[in-house]
Amino acid sequence: MENILVQKLKEYRMLYVFCMLVHIVLAVEFNRLQLYVLFGFNICSVIMYFTGTICMRRERHVKFWLIAAFIEIIAHAVLCNLYLGYGYGFWLYVVALIPVIYYVGFSSDSWQRGVGSYNALTIIATVITVISCFVSRESNLVSSAFHVLSIRVLAINLSMCMAMLIYETMLFVYAIKELFQNLQNKNEDLQFLASYDALTKLRNRRSMGKVMEQYEQDGTPYCMILGDIDDFKRINDTYGHTCGDIVLQKIAEIIEPYGVACRWGGEEILILLHGTPEEGLKLAERMRETIAQTAVMYKGIRVKVSMTFGFGSGAESRMIEKLVTVVDARLYIGKENGKNQVVSKSSI
Ligand code: GH3
Ligand code: MG
Ligand code: MG
Repeated sequence: MENILVQKLKEYRMLYVFCMLVHIVLAVEFNRLQLYVLFGFNICSVIMYFTGTICMRRERHVKFWLIAAFIEIIAHAVLCNLYLGYGYGFWLYVVALIPVIYYVGFSSDSWQRGVGSYNALTIIATVITVISCFVSRESNLVSSAFHVLSIRVLAINLSMCMAMLIYETMLFVYAIKELFQNLQNKNEDLQFLASYDALTKLRNRRSMGKVMEQYEQDGTPYCMILGDIDDFKRINDTYGHTCGDIVLQKIAEIIEPYGVACRWGGEEILILLHGTPEEGLKLAERMRETIAQTAVMYKGIRVKVSMTFGFGSGAESRMIEKLVTVVDARLYIGKENGKNQVVSKSSI
């Protein structure tokens, strides 16, 4: 949030610097043309934009300086229109102002509620400028000799406004791109949460169902291992739930490379892996040993942990769901027989 605000302030200050440069160029031009009223106005504008660029560093200052710029741009366009006539294109600055009004509104929290007020500001700016264009036809204060220079001033105004419009369009494009990126990131997060467990980052039961179907249809030999952390309740009760969570994460980290792993229940993990029963059993034993040798460090305390496994091979059951019941029963036997062990068909 803080970063977004800093970014917005940077963008608004850039706009202020740009306006200051425009007025410096115009002040030089008006001085050359000996149009001292307009020269004076532009010098005041330069001072205003310079002060604004320096001072616009806090959120509460922004509104004041944006309103000041809004008034200044319209006042300048009206004065120049009345003084020189609409042919010099000073009204172009009001055209370039309109996207800024909407950009500022779009970037603010009150966009939904305040869209009417941004429309109102645009209408006010347009009406004042159009009226000044009409009036200027009648009351051109500068002699016709100056009109020779109109192309030069018009070219300055046109190129400045074009540059401003390009910058504003870029701001909009970047804002939209950023929103799109945020949306995409959130979408990815949601997709991940739909298939994976947030704590262990292992698959959840739902997405494991799909993997099971694939394994069943595949035809290649596979094994299933169901592990349950031993005395996990005691770990929670002794060291706290946060410690329990860390233990779960650590165990998930150890198990994950062995095959396709899923958080089957609270502290139960189901693993599917390709291979013969002999290979699978070896891996299950290695998994058990690694876990039993691992101590999780929590607040400087070594928390020892072990896990009991029920093991089965795809050859034992035609239906994978039945195999889950088989390995679950073996896991139960392992718990009954003292925990921290792998129970397979041959070990019963
Ligand atoms: P056993 O050796 O027989 O498996 O005993 P146990 O204490 O591990 O089993 P029990 O079923 O009595 O307790 C499981 C505990 O796991 C209870 C529950 O609070 C805890 N648990 C389940 N999910 C989580 C979790 O996400 N985080 C933490 N910290 N604890 C969890
Ligand atoms: Mg347990
Ligand atoms: Mg359990």
